[in-house]
Amino acid sequence: MDPVKDNRTTEHKKRIRRLRRIIVSAAVFLLILPTVLSVIALVRIGSMNARLDEITTLLNNMNDNMNMSVHESEEPKSRAASGPTPLTEKSLSGQDDEAGTEDDSTAVKKVYLTFDDGPSQYTDDILDILAEYDVKATFFVNGREGFDAEYMRIALEGHSIGMHSYSHVYDEVYSDLDSFAEDLHRIQQLIKDITGEECRLYRFPGGSSNAVHHMPMAECIEYLDAKEIRYFDWNVSGGDAMAEPHSAAQIVNDVCAQVQAVSGDTAVVLLHDAAGKRSTVEALPVIIEKLKAMDDVVLLPITEETEAVQHVRP
Ligand SMILES: [Zn+2]
Repeated sequence: MDPVKDNRTTEHKKRIRRLRRIIVSAAVFLLILPTVLSVIALVRIGSMNARLDEITTLLNNMNDNMNMSVHESEEPKSRAASGPTPLTEKSLSGQDDEAGTEDDSTAVKKVYLTFDDGPSQYTDDILDILAEYDVKATFFVNGREGFDAEYMRIALEGHSIGMHSYSHVYDEVYSDLDSFAEDLHRIQQLIKDITGEECRLYRFPGGSSNAVHHMPMAECIEYLDAKEIRYFDWNVSGGDAMAEPHSAAQIVNDVCAQVQAVSGDTAVVLLHDAAGKRSTVEALPVIIEKLKAMDDVVLLPITEETEAVQHVRP
């Protein structure tokens, strides 16, 4: 054997083996690298997704807060410009109000939601809303056939019932004292028959300062006094009995602006429970929420001890 040739062959084989190792190593490296990179990329995408979720939640919360504050500030301001409807009011100082609902602090404003002209197709809706918000109100009712369940529900759910005449027909109620008395006893008896309550709260149709009576209001007031019946007007009006119907937003704004403008500690709010007054029902939850959000406000039903808000007191 030629030793030189043999040496060359061995050298050649070694080189081939080295080359093969390099090729195999390169192939393995090239195969592993993308897999490792993919795994790293997946992990990073996962963590970025989590951060994106966090940011989205944060942005949504900020959006909600901005919408709420825009909503809160818009409504009262737009009405405050036109100002609350001024009402002639003469508040009589009566006895102190319901014990336990407020302290002696003069900062507390007692707000009485009152609904005139019912019962109606909306009485149940109004009662449902009041129940939902755990608020007691006052219903100055008329004599209406077929609404026994509504009169009953008002009483059973802890609201106050007041009289608002039986017929609400001005020419009849106010034609003379006998007519006034007869109408009064009719509605008082109806309430007693259905609820068992001896009603001693009254609201004059049109209010005590109405311009439609055919007789001196003093006579009617004297008659109520003799019967120990207290009458209540209002110093806040939702404006829902206007010829041109108010929108729910207008009613909310009127009530809230006027409650804030009341200088004393008693706000009696006039609203209506009557056919066609759908916007009052729509406004009610917002009114309650806004009033409850006021620090110094308590919502109460009128009782015989409530400080009277009266337009006319001769
Ligand atoms: Zn009325």
